[in-house]
Amino acid sequence: MEPKDTTTNDAFKGFTNTACPFLPCHKGVKREFNCLFCYCPLIAYECPGPYQVYTDKNGLTRKDCTNCTLPHDGYLASWNFIQKWLERPVIWSGAAQTTPPTRRPGRAPGDGDEE
Ligand code: SF4
Repeated sequence: MEPKDTTTNDAFKGFTNTACPFLPCHKGVKREFNCLFCYCPLIAYECPGPYQVYTDKNGLTRKDCTNCTLPHDGYLASWNFIQKWLERPVIWSGAAQTTPPTRRPGRAPGDGDEE
């Protein structure tokens, strides 16, 4: 079964938890702060975000997403970003982010819309 977006009400695509003691947890968000993707659904997948790589106390390679605003900047923009990147999820290799950032699977260079 494939999920269908059958409503024109976009309210489910984002919210701001103004009672959260950590807000704003990521600096640089210019639009509505979207708390819906806390934590980011792309944490285990390849993504275009500016993450740093570190090794945790169990010896596992992890992403540090402190500097990433992509899942938080604007209700609709962050919703659309996450949906696009979950269309063809690719398990994260554990490698550092590249320059330019990882491209969305299925996109050819020059197609634009990294988000
Ligand atoms: S770098 Fe950004 S998009 Fe990538 S997993 Fe972290 S928060 Fe999500």
